[in-house]
Amino acid sequence: MKSPPSRAHGVSGASRLVFILGNPLEHTLSPWMHNAAFRALRMPWVYAPLEVTADQLKNAVEILRSINVEGANVTVPYKEKVVPCLDQVEREARWLGSVNTLYRRGGKLIGVSTDGEGFLRSLGPWRKKLTGSQGLLIGAGGAAKAVAEALARSGVQALFVANRSPGRAQILLRRLLKRHPRLKGGALSLLEGERFLNRCDWLVQSTSLGLKAGDPSPLSLQGAQPGTLAVDLVYHRLTAFRKQAQRLHLPNLGGEGMLLHQGALSFEYWTGRRAPLGILRQALAQALASNDRSAGIPDKS
Ligand code: NDP
Repeated sequence: MKSPPSRAHGVSGASRLVFILGNPLEHTLSPWMHNAAFRALRMPWVYAPLEVTADQLKNAVEILRSINVEGANVTVPYKEKVVPCLDQVEREARWLGSVNTLYRRGGKLIGVSTDGEGFLRSLGPWRKKLTGSQGLLIGAGGAAKAVAEALARSGVQALFVANRSPGRAQILLRRLLKRHPRLKGGALSLLEGERFLNRCDWLVQSTSLGLKAGDPSPLSLQGAQPGTLAVDLVYHRLTAFRKQAQRLHLPNLGGEGMLLHQGALSFEYWTGRRAPLGILRQALAQALASNDRSAGIPDKS
């Protein structure tokens, strides 16, 4: 893979810094997006990777707090581990128990998760159709939790969760229903999920299947009704899940839009400025293409 743009676009003693904390960071696409936006807006800001070990995380956050840094993104595997290191965590992120963005306010380092809202924005015109709808969330990991909460607060009537380990789906659902008492839902195995497809307005694939080339789809979409929206959070490639959706002529989206919009929201937390979506989208498309794993950026995001 090519390195993120290292051309120091006006890096100087006056540069303002944003980092991404994670490990490994070699493949992160975020530096491409944010540095392109800073350049386009002629902002003297720089976004750089800060790869740390688990042992170094607490000290790294301490240093970010004490020096002149505007904020950070946090990615795998520290989205949860970083929470106890922060001065404050916004309400939804507290419930999720994870953050992907740190921003500074009056000497404090505050954590927030932009994944859920990023997901909703990525749906474009489909977002309005969520009210009163029902559907199936496949997977019950960290991303599923953020998406489930976002779907619940956008007015879906019923949300079912199917997971390889049904116990994990049950835990997620129990916590979600406690927070949203009017929501209906159930925890299913993947096989039960397949049988439920004909009752769904939408499907969200949030397992890590698809990250590797040749990964199968977690379930067969054969039973889905025409018009069911199928979203896959994987953004690296056209997954087996999406290929099936396309064969069945189901409207479908990849995870590129979510990646784009969660990044745009982070940008706005740090800078207080509206994110230049067109620039971010173009930079992300270039980064995906240069990794030779582009599935295209959906126009509707
Ligand atoms: P987690 O590790 O927290 O969760 C993984 C999920 O995948 C679990 O539900 C797990 O099931 C399931 N899973 C793993 N392997 C298999 C398998 N072989 N068969 C069936 N199910 C399986 O990961 P995240 O939630 O953080 O990420 C999940 C996906 O979402 C990743 O592909 C990630 O890239 C993507 N993502 C995309 C984002 C975007 O912006 N587009 C943002 C965040 C994540 P079990 O509980 O049984 O182990």
